[in-house]
Amino acid sequence: MDGFPVARRPGEVRVTEIAAKSALNRVRGMGFTWSLNPFTGCAHQCVFCYARGTHAYRELDGVREWGSVLGVKVNVAAVLRAELASRTYRGEEIAVGTATDPYQALEGSYRLMRGILTALRDARAPFHITTRSPLIVRDLDLLAQCARRADVGVAVSIATLDEALAREIEPTVAPPRQRLRAVRALADAGIRVGVAVAPVLPDVTDDAASLASVVHAAAGAGASHVWHSALNLGAITRDAYFAFLAATRPELVDRYTRLFGRGRYAEPGYAREVAERVHAAILATTFVRSRRLAPDRTGAQIALL
Ligand code: SF4
Repeated sequence: MDGFPVARRPGEVRVTEIAAKSALNRVRGMGFTWSLNPFTGCAHQCVFCYARGTHAYRELDGVREWGSVLGVKVNVAAVLRAELASRTYRGEEIAVGTATDPYQALEGSYRLMRGILTALRDARAPFHITTRSPLIVRDLDLLAQCARRADVGVAVSIATLDEALAREIEPTVAPPRQRLRAVRALADAGIRVGVAVAPVLPDVTDDAASLASVVHAAAGAGASHVWHSALNLGAITRDAYFAFLAATRPELVDRYTRLFGRGRYAEPGYAREVAERVHAAILATTFVRSRRLAPDRTGAQIALL
């Protein structure tokens, strides 16, 4: 893809180990109270990633360097355990993976999520995880233990079932069929799992047949629900996404310019059309209620200590 930097080789990626001062970040105006990200940056390099803007805080280039500068919060599990035991935390929901994929490739060797899940389990903390990576199935044992003690959910993001298109827009993410297998494994293990059709890209992944195929495949894999999210072209992401369009689909540049104007979201009429398409696909699909795990009431005392 000329003009758009993707899929770097391992030698081109800089990894820094970080001693994090905090694990939980308080969030306002969202459906959850805390966010938790074990890494800074994300190796996945999705062209639409709204987290690209976080590079600016560290004076990095969110267009050309996204995916090549990664930080690993090596002490995150210990810091989290202390925060969960403090007076500040009162059992509110925690969103894991809001600005980075917690199961990106580095997690394979650092295994931070196992420590995080152990801390969440012991504190009986409710949480949900968002990921595009099938690596999450490695932690089915701990996820099931957590789900027996608190409200736990997983969202697996799948923007399209078209494998060639997925490679273009999410160049280092596992193919959609592997992610669907992860959905199946999570559902079979009794974990509440949904599929996020995220994000919906105008004139790229937004036709009714494409959206319906993801919805139907999600239900077939055992997802209990599906929802979609809109493309968010915040400052840096806008530059990256327009560079991607210019390199791969120059005929769409004018269309996007009209659709988004100066805003970060497409105009409301378009958003309504997409919502109707997804809603119609959901109505035409049968979702099977996932099996419920028996609650585990042991360890409640430990959680209060
Ligand atoms: S997986 Fe998520 S955080 Fe990572 S690059 Fe893709 S959209 Fe961004």
